[in-house]
Amino acid sequence: MNNIPQFLAHLPIWNDGPMKEPTFKKAVFQNLYAPKSNRGPKKKTKIEKICPQCGKAFYVVPSQAHRVTCSVSCKNMYRKKQVNV
Ligand SMILES: [Zn+2]
Repeated sequence: MNNIPQFLAHLPIWNDGPMKEPTFKKAVFQNLYAPKSNRGPKKKTKIEKICPQCGKAFYVVPSQAHRVTCSVSCKNMYRKKQVNV
């Protein structure tokens, strides 16, 4: 005994029923996780600074924004210079 009348059985809704959920979940999953993974490396902002000791441009992360020189040796030299002056 077929409960679905023939004119309804031909409608696409019967085929979409089981297909819709996984497709929807996949779309949600991609929307949730794709932007996050794209954001990660791109959002790393760096601050450009010029080393007063060697004149080189260098980049620091915001947490190191207080850094003045590009390296430890430049830092030591720079400090010595300031003490002497
Ligand atoms: Zn330097």
